[in-house]
Amino acid sequence: MTNIVVLVKQVPDTYSERKLTAGDHTLDRESADAVLDEINEKAVEEALKIKEAGEGEVTVVSVGPDRATDAIRKALSMGADKAIHVSDEALHGSDVLATARVIAAAIGRVEGYDLIIAGNEASDGRGGAVPAVLAELLGIPQLTHVRVLNVEGSTVKADRETEEGITHLEATLPALVSVGEKINEPRYPSFKGIMAAKKKPVDTLTVADLGVDAGAVGLGNAWSSVVESAPKPPRQAGQRVDDEGDGGSKVAEYLVSQKII
Ligand SMILES: Cc1cc2nc3c(=O)[nH]c(=O)nc-3n(C[C@H](O)[C@H](O)[C@H](O)COP(=O)(O)OP(=O)(O)OC[C@H]3O[C@@H](n4cnc5c(N)ncnc54)[C@H](O)[C@@H]3O)c2cc1C
Repeated sequence: MTNIVVLVKQVPDTYSERKLTAGDHTLDRESADAVLDEINEKAVEEALKIKEAGEGEVTVVSVGPDRATDAIRKALSMGADKAIHVSDEALHGSDVLATARVIAAAIGRVEGYDLIIAGNEASDGRGGAVPAVLAELLGIPQLTHVRVLNVEGSTVKADRETEEGITHLEATLPALVSVGEKINEPRYPSFKGIMAAKKKPVDTLTVADLGVDAGAVGLGNAWSSVVESAPKPPRQAGQRVDDEGDGGSKVAEYLVSQKII
């Protein structure tokens, strides 16, 4: 039996216009459509493949506002069995460290987990650090940027892919894996899956329920802060180069002037 925890985050849809709030420079989550991060769909898919290859249970854990329930339901409709949703006003603006601490406390509620699967980087915060910090906090091995994943008995084997190449990794369970975008093509939830998800258990908890001090999380306790932000400048019109026999050198001159070459 493999007891798998999948970490999922609801993020603003990358296809909608994403903005920061003027007051505290946190992400304006209300102004954009919210979706289950695509990398987390892949994390769920990988967990379901392991579950389907043998016995196992998949628990989804998410830290996010009330509307994150939609992302959790999507993971459940894909086939995950149950969920823990940590939702608390005090969490607004939490940094990577606080987020990882809260996730660690939530995982403490999952009896005898074997494997934690996360995305390697969320498409909003893009810290790419929550999985590594979490593994440190839990004192378990971390296998990050994974492209191929296999669980054999109490061993997890993975191919880690980075710009430097592919590394073969192996660890004893319990362990944490973060997956890269090439790992799989996630399934679409079926109608049956969507209906079944409505009845699956979702445990909604506050930080106090988890024994986490509300004074240790949130924007005021983040180790870094955004002091200023400005909207992206509108795109400039491109520069046209007419080829009068000297097109090549004009393009080269332009690239040099822009310090591109
Ligand atoms: C607009 C904006 C402003 C910010 N301002 C600050 C600031 O002032 N100070 C500061 O320190 N930080 C700030 N952050 C960072 C923010 O707090 C982080 O986004 C957050 O803590 C988690 O890090 P991440 O999204 O980069 O996760 P990553 O490390 O990129 O996520 C990797 C994986 O970890 C898991 N994961 C991450 N978050 C969750 C979650 N909530 N629930 C479940 N699983 C999760 C998922 O599997 C995810 O795919 C800001 C972020 C944004 C978008």
